[in-house]
Amino acid sequence: MKPSLIPLPKELRYTGGRSALRDDCPVTVTDAPELPEESYTLQIKNGAVQISASSEAGLFYANATFMQIKATCGGVCDDLVVRDEPALRYRGFLIDSCRHFYGAEELKRLLDAAAQFKLNRFHWHLTDDQGWRIEIKRYPMLTEVGGYRSNSRFGGVDEQTPHAGFFTQAQIREIVDYCAERSIEVIPEIDMPGHFTAAIAAYPFLGCTGERIEPTQKEGIFPNVLCVGNDEAISFVKNVLDEVCDLFPGKHIHIGGDEAPRAHWKSCEKCTEKMKRLGIADYDALQGGFMKEIASFLREKGKTAITWNESLKGGVLSPADVTVQRWMDRKNICRAFAQAGGEWIESDFYHYYFDYPYGMTPLKKTFAYDPFKACGDRPPVGVEGALWTEFVRSFDDLCEKLFPRLLVIAEKGWSGSDSRRYPDFYAAVCALLRTVPLKTLPPGRWDPRVSARLKEVKKFFRGSLSSETLRQALDSRK
Ligand SMILES: [Zn+2]
Repeated sequence: MKPSLIPLPKELRYTGGRSALRDDCPVTVTDAPELPEESYTLQIKNGAVQISASSEAGLFYANATFMQIKATCGGVCDDLVVRDEPALRYRGFLIDSCRHFYGAEELKRLLDAAAQFKLNRFHWHLTDDQGWRIEIKRYPMLTEVGGYRSNSRFGGVDEQTPHAGFFTQAQIREIVDYCAERSIEVIPEIDMPGHFTAAIAAYPFLGCTGERIEPTQKEGIFPNVLCVGNDEAISFVKNVLDEVCDLFPGKHIHIGGDEAPRAHWKSCEKCTEKMKRLGIADYDALQGGFMKEIASFLREKGKTAITWNESLKGGVLSPADVTVQRWMDRKNICRAFAQAGGEWIESDFYHYYFDYPYGMTPLKKTFAYDPFKACGDRPPVGVEGALWTEFVRSFDDLCEKLFPRLLVIAEKGWSGSDSRRYPDFYAAVCALLRTVPLKTLPPGRWDPRVSARLKEVKKFFRGSLSSETLRQALDSRK
């Protein structure tokens, strides 16, 4: 039998002969220092398995491939040689713990599944308007006040129940260790200067108005941004990041930078005064300067900041400052950044945002998208699928939205943009999804017909989208 594998290995050769794969079949592991970090070779011959790798990651991936072979070959496997290495070093997935909170045990189940497919970056969205989910010892109100909201009304659905929860530093260390055992780097996101309502609810001086507010109960973009004209507010952010850097040993810290309305800055004395004093021309540059200051603060601590593409708008951030995550870039600012040598991660809204229904983003549409071409001829350093949780009210729903679409991220990130035709990928997904011990979406719903898509998308967006956005969402060219 020939195995089904996701991602498809770089090189897979059948050597004639067959092997029975008993549970006790001999496995030899050889250290091969000449192999790059994540690569490995795997040979199955005469009922024996030989693996070589130069790192824990390579060994982990060889084992992941072997597990897929065992799971899909029915006990007897055609003898083979696999020589494998990833196309991209960053193969990520985002989980939003703010809008709807799922705990450590649920996260571990997701991490197990993601690791099977050689995904290696867990982008953990920990702070937002609707909830602050990471314990910061110096500022306990962040989780005490900012981690609680009295109700949820996303999409007009009144849940009529409070929503609360956060990860203690001990739990975070446990998740980080759990990920390390699976060759996954955890990238925490502390979103700033926008999406800051929950933090301001905890410490009102962080906002421009000083008003007492509560964490938000609905989806959307909110005016409560960090007062970047206030030195104390900036020191606060740095103190938070000191603790964040201690908790997460990885190279990257995500500092957001998306969707920051300017209204409060415009009427703020401190922000206006700062712009005058420093000769800052506009609010895009005000944000850019702030992001640059935080990015260099992190660089001094040995970290690289990642920001969403909006923060490039002011023209302040250069490739030396940040890695950029592209999600929605109508003016194509990322292209210039990439052409200038900037590192970027591809997370296109219309293809890699998995919180939207399969009617809007079918598996086939996600698969057909070429992430390597999004910024012209300069390829990304990574790809990432995002799962925001405004409309995800159960863990089962979250899993169905991710699986199978997340397997496309695994395939494109590891095997490159043109690894195989969709029907072959589809068949492999059918064979391997059975091995994922989570609620996954049944095959009949991965690629709904156009009439069903329209119905599904309209139902999902009822009352919250213009017809123009709806058209764009359904346009598969996007
Ligand atoms: Zn201000």
